[in-house]
Amino acid sequence: MVNHAPAPQDIAVIGAGLVGSACALALAEDGHRVTLFDPDPPGAGTSSGNAGGIVTGAVVPTATSQVLRALPSYVLDRNGPAVLRLRHALHALPWLWRFVRAGRPAEVARIAAALWPLVEGSLTAHRQLARLAGADGMITDEGWLKVYASDAEFAATAPDRLLMDRCGVRYQVLDQAEVMALEPGLNPDLARIGMHQPESGFVRDPRGLAQSYADAALSRGARHLCQRVRGLVRRPGGVTIHADAGPQDFDRLVIAAGAWSATLARQLGDRVSLDTERGYHLGFGAQTAGLLRRPVGLPALGMVLSPMQGGLRLVSGDELAGLTAPPDFRRIRGLVPQARRAVPGLSEQPVTSEWMGFRPSTPDSLPVIGVSPHGPEVIHAFGHGHLGLTLAAITALMVADAVAGRPPRVEPRPYVIGRFR
Ligand SMILES: Cc1cc2nc3c(=O)[nH]c(=O)nc-3n(C[C@H](O)[C@H](O)[C@H](O)COP(=O)(O)OP(=O)(O)OC[C@H]3O[C@@H](n4cnc5c(N)ncnc54)[C@H](O)[C@@H]3O)c2cc1C
Repeated sequence: MVNHAPAPQDIAVIGAGLVGSACALALAEDGHRVTLFDPDPPGAGTSSGNAGGIVTGAVVPTATSQVLRALPSYVLDRNGPAVLRLRHALHALPWLWRFVRAGRPAEVARIAAALWPLVEGSLTAHRQLARLAGADGMITDEGWLKVYASDAEFAATAPDRLLMDRCGVRYQVLDQAEVMALEPGLNPDLARIGMHQPESGFVRDPRGLAQSYADAALSRGARHLCQRVRGLVRRPGGVTIHADAGPQDFDRLVIAAGAWSATLARQLGDRVSLDTERGYHLGFGAQTAGLLRRPVGLPALGMVLSPMQGGLRLVSGDELAGLTAPPDFRRIRGLVPQARRAVPGLSEQPVTSEWMGFRPSTPDSLPVIGVSPHGPEVIHAFGHGHLGLTLAAITALMVADAVAGRPPRVEPRPYVIGRFR
């Protein structure tokens, strides 16, 4: 997206979530003829319901030795923050095997080091795309705050802090008075210690941001076809897409279909280990949006409280149950009293909405970004797990660089799909 303009190509992007919409904008800005396939409006699915954090210090992978020790409780404790549904367990076994291997200490350190250049550049990348989209105001810089009720709770974060220190993540440890100065709406008893990453960004309306990116792509000549892609075939010099309205040829294809990407990649000969970590939120009414200023994580309760545009959002849950099982809101509903205790201003406020989304998760917590080993006409941009909002824009810039043949801004090897062979 800088220096010399690449020769324009016909490029299809499958998926208009945050990642696909950002890719469409970065490619359209480079002068390509972009077609965005998605039966749904931009950002309407998983990308709409997150906690809004662009977390520039998120280097701790999902699989760590602490999480591995807790794995049995994922099956046994129906009320825990993470759940593995038995009906999905057999299907998930290969993914779980890789997840366990990713949790070995040397792997955790390698993965953190590979996440760091992505997350470190994530907010700058979003600001670059948001400027193109005239959406600068949608990203604010309140930072990312986690709070702890006791020294013991905070001490349990020592392994995470060690990883963050090794990578060079900047954060501040705050005492109770400092936390309360940042967030007067919190219950001080649950906020005796804080960890603040002031350089992180916040998006109160992530669906709106995806829509802005897609709109900016359309204003640069892209088109959005409200069609589901049903089949993909490589042909010399490109790819044929079979969508609802029949076959169409493209020079290049970007797969950005979130949790549904593995089936598409497999049709083109690219195997990947991808499952979904389903996550939930409950929304309180619009009048609650001012109770906090930024997303606040309460790790001991397994929840984040985010002051979104439509009201305070209680975000929680990590459920391995596949793409088709119905949602199970019992656990997150059970967290409402704790949320009201954490933010006393919520006490009289009713829950006004319930939501579930599908995090597209690789077992090693690294996204899949880059050209297919079977040919450069296919580019992958999925598997962002817990960090799809954070990483959408930097992924898009990396995709545009790959198409243009520009030197990569981030060493691409850790993210290639070939690691799943
Ligand atoms: C509860 C929760 C909280 C989260 N909080 C955060 C956070 O604070 N910060 C953060 O960075 N991340 C967060 N995330 C993660 C983030 O929301 C996701 O990683 C991100 O939304 C994934 O974006 P995506 O564009 O890859 O996928 P999606 O948003 O799922 O978009 C994929 C799109 O592909 C389309 N599609 C699928 N198959 C086809 C097909 N065959 N043809 C055409 N279109 C197709 C779908 O319709 C969909 O619109 C959270 C996630 C959850 C669930």
